[in-house]
Amino acid sequence: MKKRIIALGIFLSLIVAAVIILPQTLLKPEPIHIHAGFQVYADDKLQDLSDFKYMHEMPCSIDGKPVEGAPKDEQQERAHLHDQTGDVVHVHRQGGTWGDLFKNIKYEISDDAVVYANGQKIDNLLDREIVPYESVVIFTGKHTDDQKYLKNAVKKEYIQEIEKKSETCGS
Ligand SMILES: [Zn+2]
Ligand SMILES: [Zn+2]
Repeated sequence: MKKRIIALGIFLSLIVAAVIILPQTLLKPEPIHIHAGFQVYADDKLQDLSDFKYMHEMPCSIDGKPVEGAPKDEQQERAHLHDQTGDVVHVHRQGGTWGDLFKNIKYEISDDAVVYANGQKIDNLLDREIVPYESVVIFTGKHTDDQKYLKNAVKKEYIQEIEKKSETCGS
């Protein structure tokens, strides 16, 4: 009888543990740290998104030391900008999308935008998961010669350079 109660006790604790722990591990997106490039053109004019107002508040590092502290905002962690660099997105959560980026920096991409990823026209940018080193170019308003501007898209080497500088950036 005692054995049964102990077995039942163990069984119940396992269930409780599973109920508490599983959702946390399943629902919480994995922390990652990837980078991709992007440009926004409005009426054929490259938009400058390097202003401080677009930046994630916490700098990656100060004097080479990672900045610790403030609790993490999960939505912000999905995609944001750092270090007054307006053309490389930092993604710290698995599944971060371009929609997360533009939501977080409060920059609206109009519905009629024409978007290219690595030179190929794509649809539904905002639902698209950000993948490492992808280079996205967004044209809004009037645009006349996409191919010409696509030649100036953010290059992988440049993204890697930014990445090196932000290696210590964990947030
Ligand atoms: Zn980064
Ligand atoms: Zn970051």
